[in-house]
Amino acid sequence: MISLDVLAIGNLERGEDGSIITSNSTSVLIRADDRIIVVDTSTKEMKSAIKTSFKQLMVLPKDVDTVVLTHCHADHTGNIDMFPNAQILMHTGEEIEIPGVKLINHDIELSKGVKLVHTPGHTMGSMSVFIEADIKYVIAGDAIPLKDNFMKMKPPAVNCDSELALESIKAISNYADMVVPGHDFPFMTER
Ligand SMILES: [Zn+2]
Repeated sequence: MISLDVLAIGNLERGEDGSIITSNSTSVLIRADDRIIVVDTSTKEMKSAIKTSFKQLMVLPKDVDTVVLTHCHADHTGNIDMFPNAQILMHTGEEIEIPGVKLINHDIELSKGVKLVHTPGHTMGSMSVFIEADIKYVIAGDAIPLKDNFMKMKPPAVNCDSELALESIKAISNYADMVVPGHDFPFMTER
């Protein structure tokens, strides 16, 4: 059985000129058959919230064996140090190297029902986690930062290739019953 828990819900606040004022990513815990996985680690500002979530779920961060980074941006990678025993995975094509990270270059099934899928466009190496549990979930990272991007089929404001980004949103939309966006509340796709 696979269980999914949101450790911290991300946010994104922009000023009137569109510049980013606050940006913290969502962080998610997946308990699968043979792995305990964290997807994105958010920022130092979210550390105490994430710690509280672990306590409430009665899971120890040291027992997390896999950390998946949807991409290399700092608002997703700030708490890697909470997980000393985890293998850290990121897709190739990201512009920043992170020490100790294992790069993967193709879609893989990480555990039964948990797949890592390349969803480029926000960055070239962006990847999402596709999960088949009671329903189908996608943890989208910044392939879908906000619900609004999904509802309007609008590529993320920050992107390296808007056409690729739109294809990635469509691929996620075709699969997911529920989307966990990079910086917003999870939502049902109602497909
Ligand atoms: Zn990003």
